[in-house]
Amino acid sequence: MEKKYKLYINGVWVDSEDGSYIDVINPATEEKITEVARASQNQVDAAVDAARDAFDKGPWSRMTPAERSNLLLKLAERIENKLQEYAKVESMISGKTIKQTSNYDIPYIVDNIRYMAGLARNFEGKALKEYVPEGASTIRRDPIGVVAAITPWNYPLMEVIWRAIAAISVGNTVVVKPASLTPVTTLMLASDLEAVGLPKGVFNVIVGPGSSVGEQLAKHKKVDMIAFTGSTEVGKRLMELGSSTLKKVSLELGGKAPFIVFDDADVEAAVQGAVVGGLVNNGEDCANSTRYYVHENIYSKFLNALLRELRKVKIGDPLDETVDMGPLISQSHRERVESYIRKGIEEGGKLTYGGKRPFSKGFYLEPTVIETDNNRSVIVQEEIFGPVWTVLKFKEYDEVIEKANDVIYGLGASVWTKDVTRAIRATRDLRFATVWINEHGPVPSEMPWPSYKQSGSGSSLSTYGLEEYTYIKHVYFDISGATRKSWYYQVYGQK
Ligand code: NAD
Repeated sequence: MEKKYKLYINGVWVDSEDGSYIDVINPATEEKITEVARASQNQVDAAVDAARDAFDKGPWSRMTPAERSNLLLKLAERIENKLQEYAKVESMISGKTIKQTSNYDIPYIVDNIRYMAGLARNFEGKALKEYVPEGASTIRRDPIGVVAAITPWNYPLMEVIWRAIAAISVGNTVVVKPASLTPVTTLMLASDLEAVGLPKGVFNVIVGPGSSVGEQLAKHKKVDMIAFTGSTEVGKRLMELGSSTLKKVSLELGGKAPFIVFDDADVEAAVQGAVVGGLVNNGEDCANSTRYYVHENIYSKFLNALLRELRKVKIGDPLDETVDMGPLISQSHRERVESYIRKGIEEGGKLTYGGKRPFSKGFYLEPTVIETDNNRSVIVQEEIFGPVWTVLKFKEYDEVIEKANDVIYGLGASVWTKDVTRAIRATRDLRFATVWINEHGPVPSEMPWPSYKQSGSGSSLSTYGLEEYTYIKHVYFDISGATRKSWYYQVYGQK
């Protein structure tokens, strides 16, 4: 990692204008590991101007899909060759385990980019056809323009791929604002895009607080679209900011995934899935399983096995390949998560496991299990975004579906049963955008990552995800050659 990082604007690395920098802290050690230039107002404007010019004047937006695709394939190869470096830096800035970044995040990102590179050459739509007698119509798919990609700290690089690389793959240009806590791998990506020959101005990175730099970018008149991943609260604010110029707004927001275990489920498989679904990304994943609804007939069996497995979870240095769980992202975030544990207990929940800080250094927190029978309690309703899970008992199918749906979020959900009829019915009844059966987590590049309710709008990945970054345009060709078309009399003159 470098000692200091600059911003990337119009193909040039630029330093802080007024000498202000943002410290990047390793959450495992609480030590500063590097610093990043903080963007000034002028630099935000310069980044948007660069993206605007690059879009309006080309060549990127006018290139053939194959030309853009080839460049992205080179990028994927370059990241793959530097997989260990990316994985290590991503772990150091975010606290994710190296086991996860090197076996999942970075390889998955490489696959995402390769998929996008192929898909961008393969848009499909309505055929050119005479849908009326005197004309032929077809559909164009055009890039939207300048996209502001605003990304969170929990998947620092992956979210830039899902938002910014998806956008440029179909000809848009972008200004990326990563979370201030984790900007380093985004800047490494900019450097690799430069190395593979991305034209200047197509991909710009500015760093700074959401409340100033983020807001300036999101409401900028020259920005056509906001592609945001983050909290529901900020998502609502961005909708407001985008409304003044009616920007297209794509939002991937919070979640509160239910994990429903029926009494015919393979309990051991469900327990393994429960630990992984809750623990992935240190419990800081929008799709983490957080509400375990367990049928009363198997409740004790499931809970005992869950606690048995949780005792095996190794917490520690994220760079140790045998470690299962690293620290949370920051001191203030850990305090917020702990405040939910206190609220859960105050509301009558029973703290069954964890809840403590295991070490004196680093922002660590034990995985925490709270049993409750109150579906309306704050810890069941709100996104905690840490390894704090509630376990609730249920009896009937309708009861559990109602409870599972009774949150403002609609991102991911899972159902554990051997009854295929019940499983299919649950995929219909659960108001969540991804439903896993006897699993909790996988999202292949070919499948969408959409949102219901207050978890957002639009989608990432798959064809739906790339279409998000395009306008559709109807193009009509007159094929009659007539001076007066047959329908003109309806407006003036006679037949
Ligand atoms: P956040 O909303 O606090 O911040 C996200 C980004 O928005 C950061 O870059 C931040 O600086 C910026 N920002 C904050 N306020 C802003 C404002 N007023 N104007 C413009 N930009 C602003 O979220 P976070 O804490 O970084 O990330 C955690 C959240 O992200 C969780 O809610 C999680 O569920 C969500 N998330 C969702 C998905 C998904 O796919 N749905 C994926 C990952 C994370």
